[in-house]
Amino acid sequence: MSVPSIDWSTLGFSYIKTDYRYLSHWSQDQWDAGVLSEDNVLHISEGSTALHYGQQCFEGLKAYRCKDGSINLFRPDQNALRMQRSCARLMMPSVSVEQFIDACTQVVKANEHFIPPYGSGGALYLRPFVIGVGDNIGVRTAPEFIFSVFCIPVGPYFKGGMKPCNFMISNYDRAAPNGTGAAKVGGNYAASLLPGSEAKSAGFADCIYLDPLTHTNIEEVGSANFFAITQDKQFVTPRSASVLPGITRLSLIQLAKDRLGLTVVEGDVPVGDLKKFTEAGACGTAAVITPIGGIQYNGELHVFHSQEEVGPVTQQLYKELTGIQSGDIEAPEGWIVKIQGA
Ligand SMILES: *Cc1c(COP(=O)(O)O)cnc(C)c1O
Repeated sequence: MSVPSIDWSTLGFSYIKTDYRYLSHWSQDQWDAGVLSEDNVLHISEGSTALHYGQQCFEGLKAYRCKDGSINLFRPDQNALRMQRSCARLMMPSVSVEQFIDACTQVVKANEHFIPPYGSGGALYLRPFVIGVGDNIGVRTAPEFIFSVFCIPVGPYFKGGMKPCNFMISNYDRAAPNGTGAAKVGGNYAASLLPGSEAKSAGFADCIYLDPLTHTNIEEVGSANFFAITQDKQFVTPRSASVLPGITRLSLIQLAKDRLGLTVVEGDVPVGDLKKFTEAGACGTAAVITPIGGIQYNGELHVFHSQEEVGPVTQQLYKELTGIQSGDIEAPEGWIVKIQGA
């Protein structure tokens, strides 16, 4: 076992080879028992459906070090259920919630010394995925599959505090109306690379996608979910069959309602209604909450609360969510799976 010499204060979001990853193999209608491996290289058939036809899906969740030394996994059951839905959409075998949480727990424990310390703002990011493998060439579901979970230590998304970012409305779509927008599959991401890169070249943090059918409603902010706050204390977030059902979004909906006393409105968010919102943000596991300073649409930059400071409701949501994740604030029932530290 290597002892990592990691400068926790400079950690970003990049690949670091940690000691162990979980691997389970599916063939003949079942997953095997699964092992922890020190090898970070997969050896798969050149005919794997994951390589040619995009038969793969993934998840992202974090483990947090708490003040008392224990470790919090945030809502892993929700990631497990979402991965089951992604697998079903791509005709891949289902991983049980139990196997999923067990795999995550094993990986966290085996790589415990990579978990950033309490108070550093960092976390251990877990990346579960399922890929279609085995000898094949025709367009059909794979004969074999791999379910794996690896992890990397990541730093706080914003070093030196949250800062509003500007986004631009994209002319591209990330998903089709009845396509795979709601599944966490690599194909959606491959399709988003060019739009994202063009937005970044134009000086924006990322692009915002409109609904693919009418191009009138806001759907996604890059690879995060959109929310906005109105003057009369509504928490507004898009609902559509092509929006990825984020677990951060789901959690903020409940916290907005139960802890901040906001009215939650899920539905169409017309891009023409931006002036109704006093604050806006993007949310997801990696970005946590990214405050949206302004949105570029039809050649104009619409600014929400401010380009410099974060709006008060966004700040409250951020405090509540991150407090729960790191164990400082009591979590709603069932949100935390505790792992005891060594
Ligand atoms: C993963 C993802 C999100 C955020 O989901 P979380 O469960 O909150 O991390 C939002 N949009 C897209 C497109 C995603 O892939």
